[in-house]
Amino acid sequence: MTQPRLAADSSAQTLTVLFVDQSGQLGGAEFALLSLAGRYASRGKVVLLSEGPFRARLEALGVHVQVIGNERVSSIHRQSIRFGWLRALPGIASQVRAIAAEAKRFDVLFLNTQKALVLGALGKPFHRRPVIWYLHDIMSAQHFGFVQRVIVKWIVCHVVDRVVANSRASAQALAALTGGAADRLTVVHNGIDTSIFDSFGSLDASDIAVLRRRLGLPEHAWLAGLFGRIAPWKGQHVAIAALARLQDVHLVLVGDALYGEHAYAQELRDLAKRIGVTERVHFVGFRDEIPAWMKAMDVILHTSTEPEPFGRVIVEGMAAAKPVIATAAGGVTEIIQHQHNGWLVQPGDERELADAVSSLRASPDLAQRLAEQGHADAQRDFSLDGFLRKMTQEIANTTR
Ligand code: UDP
Repeated sequence: MTQPRLAADSSAQTLTVLFVDQSGQLGGAEFALLSLAGRYASRGKVVLLSEGPFRARLEALGVHVQVIGNERVSSIHRQSIRFGWLRALPGIASQVRAIAAEAKRFDVLFLNTQKALVLGALGKPFHRRPVIWYLHDIMSAQHFGFVQRVIVKWIVCHVVDRVVANSRASAQALAALTGGAADRLTVVHNGIDTSIFDSFGSLDASDIAVLRRRLGLPEHAWLAGLFGRIAPWKGQHVAIAALARLQDVHLVLVGDALYGEHAYAQELRDLAKRIGVTERVHFVGFRDEIPAWMKAMDVILHTSTEPEPFGRVIVEGMAAAKPVIATAAGGVTEIIQHQHNGWLVQPGDERELADAVSSLRASPDLAQRLAEQGHADAQRDFSLDGFLRKMTQEIANTTR
């Protein structure tokens, strides 16, 4: 019984992998790939479909990166997909060929996003390499258009050799789409390098004041931090609306409008002004030093109004040993158990969010107990080592 497993494990150490990701920006899918591609730096390569800061982050880990971009293909968005694909056809054909030519030089083709899935999988007749897809989305009608779901379904049923989902919620949505069984899909949750968070040691009030001063945050305010890109479904408006019910609490929004949601960013500012909380909302943009920013907060919020496929920021908040309040939908409920290692609220409910913040503020012992349990659970269930071990095994399994 142990023989095949050993064989798979040793082949996992030598397999070469071509990773493909559509984004040059840094989102959850890209951070997951960053650590994995770093592990494969000497025998792998990453193809990106657009330029952006993700490239430099990969290269800093010694990862070889190639950008195979096409403006027409990059500009296909969820809503315009029906006509976008037609206009982009010549670009698609050349990207499919270019990715296939690269893939031929590797043992496995690892696709990390949906455009990567389509472009990498369509080239299979040319590259003939086993294909693994790491699914980071909830493939439901709520999130994606009909045409996109039909394309993904066809590719999953006919081309992809292995699908790994980032949560059971993502796996279930894909199973519902393809008519397969969710328990036949492997789930590998993201892993976080908790050691970076732990390197801060235990911070007393004066350490936190110094940290806040360095980050340009108010030293003595009670701070709620909301991390993630600025986008309507991430629910920053719910957190701002909740502030109106919370005296003296400040909200720190860490993240940027990565995919052009600038109108929403302006709406957030307008909302803060309208309800009179502008002085208590801090827009700090995209930041690299997430552990430091999280350590500076009193509570970490997650406010997505649609089911979150996974939610790295939640695990990061737990790793920072801060109490986390998150919306109970999608993969979040695989991370947080209400009043055990965090606090769950209904999506889109600003009153419930404000009540949760008030409860934790009024009860520092409870907040601390949840934070400590969250920290222990993040270390046990969402470690980077565990993630890398499982993904390496999944990549090896793709070749069987
Ligand atoms: N993040 C960051 N800087 C920011 C805001 C977010 O590095 O200013 C990181 C955050 O720490 C997390 C990732 O971006 O690792 C977001 O991942 P998540 O799964 O929460 O959301 P997604 O981007 O997948 O929707």
